[in-house]
Amino acid sequence: IRNDRPFRMAVVGSGPAGFYTAYRVMSKIDRAKVDMYEALPVPFGLVRFGVAPDHPEVKNCQDKFEEVASSPDFTFVGNTSVGDLGAQFDGCTVPLASLTKNYDAVVFAYGAARDKKLGVPGESQLNGIYSAREFVGWYNGLPEFANLAPDLTRGDEAVIVGQGNVALDVARMLLENVDVLRKSDITEAAIETLLKSRIKRVHIVGRRGPMQAAFTIKEIRELMKLQHVGFHPVDMALMPPEISKLPRARRRLMDILVKGSTAKVDSASKSWSLDFCLSPTEFIGDAKGNLSRTVFEKTSLSDPFDTASRVSGTGEKIDLASTVAFRSIGYKSVALPGFAEAGISFDDRTGVIRNDGLGRVFSDKAHSEDTPVPLAGVYCAGWVKRGPTGVIASTMEDAFSTGDAIATDWISNAKFAGDGDGLGLEGVKEDIDTSRCNIISWNDWHKIDEAEKARGQAIGKERESLRAQ
Ligand code: FAD
Repeated sequence: IRNDRPFRMAVVGSGPAGFYTAYRVMSKIDRAKVDMYEALPVPFGLVRFGVAPDHPEVKNCQDKFEEVASSPDFTFVGNTSVGDLGAQFDGCTVPLASLTKNYDAVVFAYGAARDKKLGVPGESQLNGIYSAREFVGWYNGLPEFANLAPDLTRGDEAVIVGQGNVALDVARMLLENVDVLRKSDITEAAIETLLKSRIKRVHIVGRRGPMQAAFTIKEIRELMKLQHVGFHPVDMALMPPEISKLPRARRRLMDILVKGSTAKVDSASKSWSLDFCLSPTEFIGDAKGNLSRTVFEKTSLSDPFDTASRVSGTGEKIDLASTVAFRSIGYKSVALPGFAEAGISFDDRTGVIRNDGLGRVFSDKAHSEDTPVPLAGVYCAGWVKRGPTGVIASTMEDAFSTGDAIATDWISNAKFAGDGDGLGLEGVKEDIDTSRCNIISWNDWHKIDEAEKARGQAIGKERESLRAQ
């Protein structure tokens, strides 16, 4: 407690980074009060709208978040965006300046709401090309993509560009038996579309080789185990000769690929492959503007068995028939409206808020590149702090380091944001017109949660999202 009043913190975003930072600060600073602003009407970020519906165990972290939110010192401010998200957003909007005025500290934990583009011809013009972010958001019931309606009926071959775990999630949704998926909390609209899907052959394509691939063992094993789904052998020339001598994680991964490559692919079943050393150069469509083929340049690796191998184009082209393609090459964060006025330094190239690695946000008025200056009371955590990679566990570690920096600064009497009024949400409400929009509270969220679960139970599943149709 400083100046006889509690520490007041605003968190922007209710994903793992926001909740774990709140948890850490509330356990380290006596009587800390936290208001969490979330643009969507519902909490949990990518835990709800990213993590695959058939991985319910990954969502167990929500229990911890529920515990944080049950504190009388915590307030959820849902359906409320920080910075203007544009005309299509129908929730409340809080200017950033209102937060810095009314709180001691503001923590940006708003994740990565865009995706990276390939930048090749046809990508933005043709029908049938989706980003993994759209597709994943759609099957998880993210309101923004409720009307995506991906067309999986025009042909039987799909291409996924990228070989990370998100690419494998997308492949699993395309290949898994719909009756298995039906029991998860995937939306009914997605089930209907997947039931009509004609996709039988999925290519998961990467620029590099198996030794450099980003997917991990659990996800690749899950795909290998799908019933009535075949795996096409990997190119053995790319596999290291002495797999047994590799470090454990890589060795297990290579073992799975070698073992999987021995099974026969039944021509009647669905099947998938990992197509290595291919870099997309163009999407080609038919006369109606629908995707029909994806063109790739073959690449070559400076050392196929080195995990850090360099990759270069060979000039040789091949193409794969594909009536649907998914771009799964990563998410990207963007600066919030108001960053420039607040003097917040954002790196557009890498898509992160510049910070000291512990979450203290740098001012864009650094005297020189060598001596960046942290802004008083402004912090960041999660994907927007370190880039859009890493699982919930690494996001938690990262959020804890931000929480520790905040507690250290507060306890050591460092300078904080605002002018010391610390009015929190009450002060913010004076700055915005709440008669024209609805703030969703944690109680409101509980009602939504119960209604979703009831809807789900009626059709034999965990939940059915309310905004999904
Ligand atoms: P997010 O989870 O994205 O949360 C950010 C929140 O901020 C969102 O709720 C967003 O609506 C909100 N927001 C955005 N802008 C504003 C604004 N202007 N005002 C207010 N609020 C705003 N990890 C695992 O451990 N296991 C998995 O199986 C797994 N699967 C994944 C599958 C996919 C498809 C993806 C994309 C990720 C997956 N991850 C998984 C990774 C995990 O989801 C991330 O590590 C984690 O969610 C990042 O947390 P975050 O809080 O930084 O961002």
